[in-house]
This record gives sequence, structure tokens and C-alpha cells, in this order.
Amino acid sequence: MSVTTNKKRRLITSALPYANGHIHLGHIAGAYLPADIYVRYLRSVGENVVWVCGSDEHGAAITLRAKKDKTTPQEIVDKYHVEMQEAFSGLDISFDHYSRTSSARHHKVAQDFFLKLLENGSFEVKTEEQYYDTEEDQFLADRYITGTCPKCEAENAYGDQCEKCGSTLSPTELINPKSTLSGSEPVLKPTTLWYLPMGRHEDWLKDYIEKGELDGAQHHDAKAWKSHVIGQCKSWIDGGLQSRAMTRDLKWGVPVPVEGAEGKVLYVWLDAPIGYITSTMEWAEKNGEDWRDWWQNPDTELLHFIGKDNIVFHCIIFPILLKEHGDYILPHQVPANEFMNLEGDKISTSRNWAVWVKEYCGENPDGSDVMRYVLASIMPEQRDSEFTWTDFRDRVNNELADVLGNFVNRVLVLTRKYYEGVVPNAPSDDALSKVDKKVLASLTEAPGKIADLIERHRYREAQLEAMNVARLGNKYLTEEEPWKLMKTDPARVETIMQIASQVVGNLGVLLEPFLPRTAEKISKAMGIAEKKWTDASTGIVAGGTKLGELPILFAKIDDEFLEEQVAKLGNNSSNTNPNIMPQKDPTTFDNFTQMDLRVATVTECVPVKKADKLLQLTLDTGLDVRTVVSGIAEHFKPEDVIGRRVVLLANLEPRKIRGVESQGMVLMATNADGGLRFITPEEGVNPGDVIS
Ligand SMILES: [Zn+2]
Repeated sequence: MSVTTNKKRRLITSALPYANGHIHLGHIAGAYLPADIYVRYLRSVGENVVWVCGSDEHGAAITLRAKKDKTTPQEIVDKYHVEMQEAFSGLDISFDHYSRTSSARHHKVAQDFFLKLLENGSFEVKTEEQYYDTEEDQFLADRYITGTCPKCEAENAYGDQCEKCGSTLSPTELINPKSTLSGSEPVLKPTTLWYLPMGRHEDWLKDYIEKGELDGAQHHDAKAWKSHVIGQCKSWIDGGLQSRAMTRDLKWGVPVPVEGAEGKVLYVWLDAPIGYITSTMEWAEKNGEDWRDWWQNPDTELLHFIGKDNIVFHCIIFPILLKEHGDYILPHQVPANEFMNLEGDKISTSRNWAVWVKEYCGENPDGSDVMRYVLASIMPEQRDSEFTWTDFRDRVNNELADVLGNFVNRVLVLTRKYYEGVVPNAPSDDALSKVDKKVLASLTEAPGKIADLIERHRYREAQLEAMNVARLGNKYLTEEEPWKLMKTDPARVETIMQIASQVVGNLGVLLEPFLPRTAEKISKAMGIAEKKWTDASTGIVAGGTKLGELPILFAKIDDEFLEEQVAKLGNNSSNTNPNIMPQKDPTTFDNFTQMDLRVATVTECVPVKKADKLLQLTLDTGLDVRTVVSGIAEHFKPEDVIGRRVVLLANLEPRKIRGVESQGMVLMATNADGGLRFITPEEGVNPGDVIS
């Protein structure tokens, strides 16, 4: 059994959600449910663990939102600080402490941190020209400036990015720039900024991320980190780390604690991760602990649960800040998840293409466990995944109701019928059949197996193993058919029902990290008071135990529910996309068969020099290994592409692009908004397989 009980401290953080919108399922599947499963398990084995989070309440988007809603930033963050907590508690996300970054306490903590870095010479001070709105009398953050995109000529591109073509921009590149605050044309004006010269840190960061080494000693097991996390960090470092401004000219945020820096605040990605520290301080104060034990003692393991869009901040920028400060430990593990899509499209707040947690929980007060179950089943641990309501229905009906619910219910009903609800005594060893012994052996193995998967952050498989215990019990009961033996062999029925009760009892413990409410109901019915992981055993339910009441665990989902949920998606009720590309002119079958379409795997991917839009892919086609140049660099980073299986037009005439010979074309799906997606063959389709 790999259950750890070394009493080391583990400090868990989940990404601070941004307080300008509601929590949706994608957030939960990314940074909160995996942490909740992990922490519930650690608590159950008696580990010394603390899990902190809080609202991220600074940054330009909140001021912008306040302007739009004709209110103050404070009112915006006050509203979402409360609503986000309601959403989390609706899905039983069990933080030990939930804080907020607009508190006076946090401002002080962040400012002290900044001053220590200043004292340590961690910054470079630079004066540069930035856009300034003379009517509003303030400098403009990138998001406050819009204009025409210099690349695709789309109107309303932002100062940092064009959403139409995906190009990364700087505000001075925009044609006809406009302030979104006043609508006026901004002017360039010099301002002073404190930069973090990240290039200085490349060497030790490389050792830290690629080898898990810090200051010449082993810090963590680098092999335990997810490959996409390491891949993304490597590509950042290999690309050369640029200096990044740690201050902004804004009114809303943590003021820069330096004389003459009025009107400047700390960069939100400097202040937000320090929010983890403030949150821990508040927790420690409430619980009579010393927060320094959790942040400054090398016996503590620090784990950040985040989505993949935050990897650079948690694996590169925050570690630099912590190391520059000097008193802090560095992250031990950053089990970042990829993204979860929804019904065939990316989750999008602005298009209302999302399932809002507060709304779901409001309409389904008992819906927490089923949603947690489905999200854990499709958690985007290694690659992007997709939530659909049809899949939700199937998993709830076929797995939770038909297997788990049915099995537990049958054991209770039969025990009531045969023994007035009292669990029979354990049989002697010589009364056990081969099948009985196998079931008991599986019960003995299950806790260690599930624990090992959870420790490795493989929550999908861990939940599957826990559900396999229910599958095992269901199969046992169905095949042993105690109801047929009651008249002829009542002693045998006692044995079967005793063992079946043990299976149910174990579920009350092993399901707790995944389905806390269900586990609670089962434990109560089976007379299990404490649900410690180590209590899971073949004797968890004593003979003579009087079973309690058990409500129906899972109601089946009907099609009407399904239709209602799907109809909520999107901004219009019909859900049809008016911009679907029209069909092209007819072609012949012969034209089609001339094309050699094949499945290939991307084995390498690098940017093409001096070409912003191009990536150079190395493909294993089954036939050979070849190079293809693809114009997707504005949509994908190389590390997002490596390892993918793609569809290749293999017999397209070779063509030189920017000096590289491209031998074929990777096919992509384009949506009406110009978004590009790979066409991914299903499992079992291999390189070289021909598409016809
Ligand atoms: Zn553009």
C-alpha cells in the first residue's frame, strides 16, 4: 500500500479565480476538482495538509468591467467574491481558507514582498513611452486600447492581441489607436516601470524544471511533472526569457510602495500569487499555526493546481520571485490541467458557451456528486477534453445509477428482507469459495491502488478504480444470485451478504474524495462513523451491525433535462451558427480519390525562423518521416502540437516555404470565427492509416 503517512506538510493552492465573472465547469475541471480530490484523500490518510485559495481582484479587466457596468471596481469584486464562493460550495469544493487580494492585509504583504525584491536588486527600472488618455488623465493598459489590427486589418483589435487573427500585438502597432475609456486618441508619454529581468534566471530555472534540481540539490522528482508542463516551460526558456514589467500605470491594484510612484500599482501577476501567502497567513492565524512553517520550511511541499494558461506564471515567474526574495520554498509540483471544451466548441464567457456552476447548483441542489463524477471522468489531465450533456446523461444513468446505485440498494434491500437489516456474521475461512476470496483480495488491494493514482495526480484512473469496486460488487451479487439460494442454502447466503456488505462499506470510504455526499450516505447507512482511508478493509462492517436508511442515490437523467441544458448554451435560443461556411461547388469522385490522405503523428515541432505564422512539423506517416510547414503558429505553440495525431494530405507537391521544403499539408478545421482546430482521429487509428 503506498499510502503516505510521513507527516510532511503539504501546502496546496488552486489558481485564484478572477473576480469579474462567474465560475464555469471548465474552471472546476481545471484547477479545483483535482485539488479537492487530492486534498480530501490526504485528509483521509491523516496527512498534514492545508489548501488555500481566494479571489484575484486586481487587474485592468476589473476596472474595464466596472466602467462598462457604470459601477466601481470594488462593487464588481465584492459581488463576484461572494458568488464565486457560492459556486465552489455548490460543488463541495472544500478549501481550508478562501481569501481575497483587495484586502488591506494582502496589500501590505504584497508591498513588503516588492520592497524586499527592490532591496535585493531584483528589478531594473526603465522609463519608456506609453499611451496616455489625456481626457481620463491616466496611462492606458494594453486592454484599454483598441485599433485596427496591422496584420489582418480587423477593427477593434486590443493593444495586446487581435482576437480576429490571433496575433500578439503591442499597443504602438495598432493603426488608429483609440482609448476605450474616453474614445479619444491616446498620446505617447514617458513613464517609469520596474522590470523583472527574467533572462538572468534561465540557468537555474532549466535545472529546476528539467531535472528537479535547485541550488545543486534534488528538489523534486522532475519525472513526476506532467510532460506538457515541462514542455511549455522549456519552450519559454529556450525562446529566451524577456524582462517583464512588474508595475502598471493604473489606479486599481496594490500601490507601488515607492516614493514618487503615485498612480502605479503592482502587476497583477506579481500580486496574485502572493495572495496564496496572504491566504495562508489568515488560515494560520485562525488555527494557531505559524504560517512560516508552510512557506519557509523546506519540509513543506508546495503544490499549485492551475489550468495550462497559467503555467508560465507558476513555473517561471513566481519561482523567480520566491527565489529572489530568498526566504521562501519553491513549488514542488504544478499538476496543471489542459482545457475542457463544451459541446464541440471552446468554452467562451462572452458567447455564453459555458455551464455556469452557480446556475447548475441552484437548479440541481443534489447535483453536486453527479457533476463531480462526470468532470473527474473526463478531466483534461494530459490533453484537452470535452464535456457534452449526452455523455453526462450516459455516465449518470449507466454508471452511477445502474452500477453503483443499484448495487448498494440491492445489498440494503436484501439484508433488510433476509435479516431484518442486521449484517450477518463473518464466515470462517474454510467457508469461502474461490470467488469470495477473489472479491476479498480485490478489496484489500483497492485502497493502495487508488491512493497511488491520486498521489500521481491521475484522478480519472483513480475514480475508475474506485468505481471498479462497485462494479465488482454488482457482478458478485448478480452471479452468486443469493435470492435463488435462500431456501436451499441459507448459510451460503449469509456468506454472500456478509461479503457484499464489506464491498458497500469500502465504497463509503474510497468514494469520499470523488463523491463526498454519496460516500457520506453510504457510510451512515453502513454504520461507519469515521471514514479514514486506512479503515478500508475486508472487515469494515462488523457482523451484527444494524443498517440504517439509505435514500435513492442517483435519479436517472431524462432527455428533457438534456434538451433544457443544451438550449441554454450560446447567445441565441436556436443555437445555430449563422456563419457556417457555405458548401463549395461539386467535385468528382476521381478528383477525391487522387488525394492521398493519411494519419500521421507529429514527432517534433519548431518555429520557422523569421516567420510569425509558420511552424515546422516533423511527421511520422507510417511510410516515412517527413517535414511539413504549417501556417498555424498564431494558433498553436510547438508544445501543443508535438505528439498529436493529425490528418495529412500526403501527395501534395513538395513546396519550399521560407527555405524549408514542405512535403504535404496538415488538414485543419476552421470555424466561422477563423479559429483553427486539428482534426484528431479516434483512438486506435494509427500513422499510415489511409483515409478514404
Ligand atoms: Zn488581426
